Amino acid sequence: MSDKFDVIVIGAGPAGYVAAIRAAQLGLKTACVDAFVGKDGKQALGGTCLNVGCIPSKALLDSSKQYFNLSHNLPAHGITVENAKVDMGTFIGRKDKIVKQFTGGIGQLFKANKITPFFGKGKLLKGNNVEITGNDGSKQTISATNVILAPGSVPIELPFAKFDGKNIIDNAGALDINEVPKRLGVIGAGVIGLELGSVWNRLGSQVTILEALPDFLSVADADVAKIAAKEFAKQGLTIKLGAKLTKAEVKKNEVALTYEDKDGSHELAVDKLLVAVGRRAYTEGLLADDTGVKLDERGRIAVDEHNHTGVDGVWAIGDAVRGPMLAHKGSEEGVAVAEWIAGKAGHINLETVPWVIYTEPEIAWAGKTEKQLKDEGVPYKIGTFPFAAIGRAVAMNEAIGQVKVIAHAETDRLLGVHMVGPGVSELIAEAVVAMEFKGSAEDLARIVHAHPTLSEAVHEAALSVDKRAIHKGN
Ligand code: FAD
Ligand code: NAD
Repeated sequence: MSDKFDVIVIGAGPAGYVAAIRAAQLGLKTACVDAFVGKDGKQALGGTCLNVGCIPSKALLDSSKQYFNLSHNLPAHGITVENAKVDMGTFIGRKDKIVKQFTGGIGQLFKANKITPFFGKGKLLKGNNVEITGNDGSKQTISATNVILAPGSVPIELPFAKFDGKNIIDNAGALDINEVPKRLGVIGAGVIGLELGSVWNRLGSQVTILEALPDFLSVADADVAKIAAKEFAKQGLTIKLGAKLTKAEVKKNEVALTYEDKDGSHELAVDKLLVAVGRRAYTEGLLADDTGVKLDERGRIAVDEHNHTGVDGVWAIGDAVRGPMLAHKGSEEGVAVAEWIAGKAGHINLETVPWVIYTEPEIAWAGKTEKQLKDEGVPYKIGTFPFAAIGRAVAMNEAIGQVKVIAHAETDRLLGVHMVGPGVSELIAEAVVAMEFKGSAEDLARIVHAHPTLSEAVHEAALSVDKRAIHKGN
């Protein structure tokens, strides 16, 4: 046994690295084991999110948005740019630089907090020992009083459309295409399909998304999904609903797809195929047979409301456990678990975890959708306000979408806030604060919002719950 720690974290994604930092801040001797290999072949901390998820996708979304705006937004401001071109080396290189900056930053934070990083695959053994297998096959074992499992998730593979890294790609592949594909097929109109589909659509790809479900973006509120679908169609994204892929055959330079919908069987040829049909907990090789840690019916690590596995000193957080697969959810669990380990009052409220989809328009929500409330029989009232009546949004030439506030019909307590429109990734934070403080629509309505700002849409939607919005008829 080479060393004994208070805490060993397996996985250095946003769940694991945050848990490690908080544990170290609380005076616990902490180690973090991670196996992720960066583009340069070296250890890259930060997990999926920093390497092939949140950060690189937002870098490409922002670059592609600038390009798209040249032809779709700037002319309305009287600005025209002719012969605009995208240099793909710079486009992908900028993203890689940002990734390197942030993954390197985690290394610095580990140093500053005196966290010991280990590079290799960690396996939990009985008795809170962790065996680490390096890339060269070398093995060492370390032990701790507490082990936090944060192994994250990996993309689900379709048996008839296996990833080959060239023609049939996952999220990592779709963030590293060096030439704009003429035709990009996407399986799954979920968060990844819409975000990465948007990136390549904006650069000129003909993007076709096949979605198995009959409803578009059914995780979001139906009104929001309807507005978003209309805008995506205007941008040239083709989304086929109720479409089930049955075959994907890689031919010489293309992928021949066969899919079925209510009208029968169809063929579609694409140059690349992104499969984004969801992710699953990554637990391969993580647990020795006799640890006692259990998996749930969906293969996730089973935990209680305190992220405890039921095995003394073993906890699990992030994408590998129940709840939404979001970076900020995993990070908050990491903080909470470190605090529970240190005997403090950790806290995580899964009810107010915000969702953001970084398309144009952006989509963001927190709390329940109207459908969920209807299904649960909860009485509710609704207020909405369109960005078309918000001066700032019109000045930006981005007057698309709306804010929808749902409050309890009797108590006025905020139950859900759903947004689609400009800058809503930032606006949602106000709703989350209000909901976390158990606020009401009246609370939001009584708060002064600066003019002219996009946040006035939140204010007006809250006023509209009781039919007293100022800048629209009620
Ligand atoms: P991960 O980030 O997956 O990290 C787990 C780490 O553990 C990895 O480095 C892995 O190599 C390592 N590991 C696993 N098993 C072992 C082992 N046995 N030994 C050693 N190391 C191991 N979420 C958002 O909130 N906002 C976004 O904008 C967003 N965008 C996304 C875009 C894309 C394209 C994708 C794919 C995901 C996105 N997500 C986003 C989701 C987000 O990336 C995840 O929710 C988040 O990364 C989960 O964090 P985690 O720490 O649980 O796991
Ligand atoms: P997802 O669950 O968001 O969407 C998958 C979609 O694929 C669903 O609409 C599903 O109905 C569809 N689908 C499933 N099987 C199918 C099939 N055989 N044929 C056609 N469609 C099929 O999953 P994702 O887009 O892969 O993303 C995974 C997770 O990563 C997200 O749920 C989210 O938690 C996280 N993520 C978050 C962000 C963000 O926060 N902005 C961005 C990207 C990813």
